Amino acid sequence: MKIVSVHPHLLDHKLDTAFESASMRFDRRQHVLVEIVCDDGTIGWGECLGPALPNAAVVKAYTPSLIGEDPLNTEIIWQRLYNLFRDQGQRGLTVTALSGIDVALWDIKGKHFGVPVSVLLGGRLREQVRAYATGSFKRDGVDRVTDNAEECAGHVEAGFQAVKIKIGFNPREDIEVIAAVREAIGPDTRLMIDANHGYDVREAVQVGQAAAQYGIDWFEEPVIPEQLSAYRAVREGQPIPVAGGETWHGRFGFKEPLETRSIDIAQPDLCGTGGFSEMRRIADMATLHGIRLVPHVWGTGVQIAASLQFMASQLPDPPRNHPVEPILEFDRTDNPFRQAILKEPIEHQNGIVSIPNGHGLGIDIDHDALAEFALKAETF
Ligand SMILES: [Mg+2]
Repeated sequence: MKIVSVHPHLLDHKLDTAFESASMRFDRRQHVLVEIVCDDGTIGWGECLGPALPNAAVVKAYTPSLIGEDPLNTEIIWQRLYNLFRDQGQRGLTVTALSGIDVALWDIKGKHFGVPVSVLLGGRLREQVRAYATGSFKRDGVDRVTDNAEECAGHVEAGFQAVKIKIGFNPREDIEVIAAVREAIGPDTRLMIDANHGYDVREAVQVGQAAAQYGIDWFEEPVIPEQLSAYRAVREGQPIPVAGGETWHGRFGFKEPLETRSIDIAQPDLCGTGGFSEMRRIADMATLHGIRLVPHVWGTGVQIAASLQFMASQLPDPPRNHPVEPILEFDRTDNPFRQAILKEPIEHQNGIVSIPNGHGLGIDIDHDALAEFALKAETF
């Protein structure tokens, strides 16, 4: 089997209501899928975390090194592509683009052997996972405190038993939001807070100390990801477990955060940190240090399906009789193509998501939706 073509698909939708995290503003939703076609007709799909146009450009830069290669050689290809841009790469777009390619290659591998990727990874420990609702961004033109509280009450109404909200804008208002959301979701729903690295250490420690009384599962990206000593200071200065890792790429990106225990929970993104090939290694590294791994998920149904395949095979650590089960990050923000690109959308039932058991990622792409949401030339 040989690779004959590689196609990045840029998806785009202009939002009616813009929203923002502490560090990013979303006027549009844009994601890039990677389609890899083989000479026997097998097609694999992947997705790259991060800005669509630059990711697509890097995928194109990798393409000449993929044509004619055997797609089953996932490790050999990973290493070759990583080496291609090592001197200027090592992290960032070179790795996020490589992630989309690696995911597509594993999709091909699963289809070739007639099994889900999770079987290739070692077996399916579970057929479904609990999901947590990600949302509660700052939306234009509304009061953030009541808007977030109403939104989270809606997630609980829909069956979610865990929600994650955005903070990192303004410590005083952020605490008001946390208090209002806790009141709205009741005492039994798990609540996580995500600052998207909007604070300095002093602010993060203050917010963590004030927020702890509201029963917070984790405090995500309190400070910028380059500041590992700041991460440790936040861990030491307040009682909420600290999570991070959606911007750390590859095993080298996770080495220091894990070895220095800068985090309590590692959050590599399968479509950003290097695909299935690298995610497995990072999971092993987290186990070496006894650090919990909860994948970051922010993308279309392709990224959700890929993350579910990984989570199906994710080993419990420690492997006790009733272990901590993985939990899926489930984006609830406005994105009409997230599920539309799948012929069978991956939805939740009462906060539970079934893991597809078809070959590869277990999904079929809806080409009409791809065409409908394709980025038009005049929008860039
Ligand atoms: Mg986050």
